[in-house]
Amino acid sequence: MTENLNLFTSTQGLFKDALDKLGYDEGMYELLKEPLRMIEVRIPIKMDDGKVKVFTGYRGQHNDAVGPTKGGVRYHPEVTLEEVKALSMWMTLKAGIVDLPYGGGKGAIVCDPREMSMGELERLSRGYVRALSQVMGPNKDIPAPDVFTNAQIMAWMMDEYSRIDEFNSPGFITGKPIVLGGSQGRDRATAEGVTIIIEEAAKRRGIDMKGARIVIQGFGNAGSFLSKFLHDAGAKVIGISDAYGALHDPEGLDIDYLLDRRDSFGTVTTLFDNTISNQELLELDCDILVPAAISNQITEKNAHKIKATIVVEAANGPTTTEGTRILKERGILLVPDVLASAGGVTVSYFEWVQNNMGYYWTEEEVREKMTKKMVDAFENVYTTAETRNIDMRLAAYMIGVRKTAEASRFRGWA
Ligand code: NAD
Repeated sequence: MTENLNLFTSTQGLFKDALDKLGYDEGMYELLKEPLRMIEVRIPIKMDDGKVKVFTGYRGQHNDAVGPTKGGVRYHPEVTLEEVKALSMWMTLKAGIVDLPYGGGKGAIVCDPREMSMGELERLSRGYVRALSQVMGPNKDIPAPDVFTNAQIMAWMMDEYSRIDEFNSPGFITGKPIVLGGSQGRDRATAEGVTIIIEEAAKRRGIDMKGARIVIQGFGNAGSFLSKFLHDAGAKVIGISDAYGALHDPEGLDIDYLLDRRDSFGTVTTLFDNTISNQELLELDCDILVPAAISNQITEKNAHKIKATIVVEAANGPTTTEGTRILKERGILLVPDVLASAGGVTVSYFEWVQNNMGYYWTEEEVREKMTKKMVDAFENVYTTAETRNIDMRLAAYMIGVRKTAEASRFRGWA
């Protein structure tokens, strides 16, 4: 809870800094410091044992001056209203950074999907859409997958909305199965986007990806896809970790073997004896460090011990404000989460465009379009940071918030 409040207040703090730097007055911060709409719903669901259970759901719509709001729905037992508020603001930033015609949105249901049957999950997902159908829609607010939600859940939600709308509405939601209008490349988009960002950052620091020494914290969905892409690009992944420990080989780990042996929770180190700790992993001598597990990993306690030349945040919020400051002072290039993980929403946008057109692109076309978006976004944020001598996080917030601030000003909202 405290961490979630911190996430919200630290996001607000950075919005304030970014708006100040852009020269906006207090009125603009008043408008953007939290979502325009924050909706809480209660969803009664008949469980398999015949009893009715009432679940709490949220939807935050940060600002729709640019266009419809967009963002995932997460299912988690500890998710809070403040977390949804903060994450909806992050979606505004991501859409701004990769220049999409969207504002930010985010949703959640307080539940533990690991303890629910498929039938219960389907009824809950449909219930969420019924509770919010009046304020969501292809031109209002477009959901997507997030923590513990997937293509099947998107399919149920799309079907429920289509029934209510009495119209097939694939553009209601993204991250759908391909046969229901999903986009090629959506499932790997976020990790592919992070890979593109890593390659761009490496170019700026004169690091050749062939043989570059990479350390990745976390071997779940994000970390494992990433290690595969980087390994295939010729880089040497010398360290990986999970919740139980870390593996290190200065000559490069056998990634295909590790991918084969990892379980569905991203655990693999328990199979080995000669492990190191996650702390030691973060401090390894390497070219590029990629935190891809959990938040608050690089802090004032260890930032001065990081030996990487570049840190790319694949996880959400792995570096604290103080950690960011120390890395900047030490000349380490830190690429922030809101830029590095924007590949997912970019391909979600392509999915929505294809749904609206009724014409579908090949995987190559999607990849080419995403690469352009990510490369341009990196260049924009990097140049802003260099010219203004600020860290890339503040530069990303400035670029991310600018479009929404401008659109709000033109509409007379601030
Ligand atoms: P996941 O649950 O699939 O995997 C998490 C990994 O982190 C596992 O290997 C787990 O063992 C490890 N881990 C858990 N606690 C740890 C700890 N205390 N120390 C070290 N490692 C620990 O999650 P994921 O989908 O891979 O997401 C990881 C992070 O990356 C999140 O912040 C997420 O928001 C972000 N992200 C996810 C994607 C994606 O496509 N799934 C893409 C970009 C960013």
